[in-house]
Amino acid sequence: MNSLQEVAHPLLVIDGSVGEGGGQILRSSLTLAVCLQRPIRLINIRKKRSKPGLLRQHLTCVRAAKEICGAYVEGDFLGSNEISFYPGKVQPGRYCFKISTAGSTCLVFQTVLLPLVLKTNQVSEIVFEGGTHNPKAPALDFITESFLVFCKQLGINADVELDRYGFSPAGGGRWTATVYPRSDVEKNKACVFEKNDDKDINIKLQAVSSNIPKSINFREIEKFRHLAKNIDLNTEDKRINTLGQGNVLIATIANQGYSNVLMQLGEHKLSAEQVAEKLYRRCSELMESGAQASEYLADQLMLPLALCGGGEFTTNELTLHAKTNGDVIKLFGGDVKYTKLKANLWKVFVSPIAC
Ligand code: ATP
Repeated sequence: MNSLQEVAHPLLVIDGSVGEGGGQILRSSLTLAVCLQRPIRLINIRKKRSKPGLLRQHLTCVRAAKEICGAYVEGDFLGSNEISFYPGKVQPGRYCFKISTAGSTCLVFQTVLLPLVLKTNQVSEIVFEGGTHNPKAPALDFITESFLVFCKQLGINADVELDRYGFSPAGGGRWTATVYPRSDVEKNKACVFEKNDDKDINIKLQAVSSNIPKSINFREIEKFRHLAKNIDLNTEDKRINTLGQGNVLIATIANQGYSNVLMQLGEHKLSAEQVAEKLYRRCSELMESGAQASEYLADQLMLPLALCGGGEFTTNELTLHAKTNGDVIKLFGGDVKYTKLKANLWKVFVSPIAC
């Protein structure tokens, strides 16, 4: 290891057991380490999870971050509780990141997106293999219809092409992201996501399923339609082929210029009607609050904002994920503040970190 590098950028030790204590601390730390060229040591990785340490998705994130910048890494093996990561210069190019299980490829994408956008001058193309629609992770539709829609306003641009869905537990999904470097025009303008005057709300509802009875999609859509009778609703009944079975009901809510995606995966012991009810309940909570960003989008927007000039937005729920992500950003010299506007509405202020 280059000892000068350590002198110029002292090693930042991050405790992965604090706050939410899961994989997000690892991913956010990797992204910030690469963008800010800051060596880090992460200890107690995912300490609050029943199976702590690096699982396949997390290990793929570490290896992906390593590959795009030629980092020197210690501790990158399955089950590892501690890694040291010394980033190098980010290289644009063609990459392929595979998770051999159904682990979330969308979380791997989020780990490498910002370094490739902010620290290179050329387009990159990345192929992902693994899960595309996972429980407790952003679905690929969330990435394309919500996360990247907000990111575009910060000058972060990427196109996505889906080849194959990948549901848990079989996995086998495949998609490609084309990631563009950020133009000089977009650099360092603070972002306030503006409302437009359109008061109408509309929902695009997709029922997607593979290798399960045809009637499931239909029943999910009909139940949701019944619950959302006063809302402009466009529906799509989509049958696909995947390894194994899969079902997801996805609502893309367009409201005053924002686009939020909420999803409910089908589960054994959950009827099609219950899937629709669960999703509708969450949609109505978000719509009632008037928030710009869902509780999930809230934690995921913080890094792009911190690295792209700062900004602010509202969310309906301030989760432990969001607070913990704010704390990680603070460790790297940024700042995130929150104000409660009403019971179901928070304002989040993200200060810029020089990148
Ligand atoms: P673990 O919790 O096992 O460590 P993990 O690495 O998958 O797992 P978390 O730290 O829990 O990750 O982070 C999960 C991320 O996925 C968060 O950014 C969260 O906002 C996001 N997420 C979870 N559920 C959804 C959802 N339904 N829609 C969009 N994003 C989601």
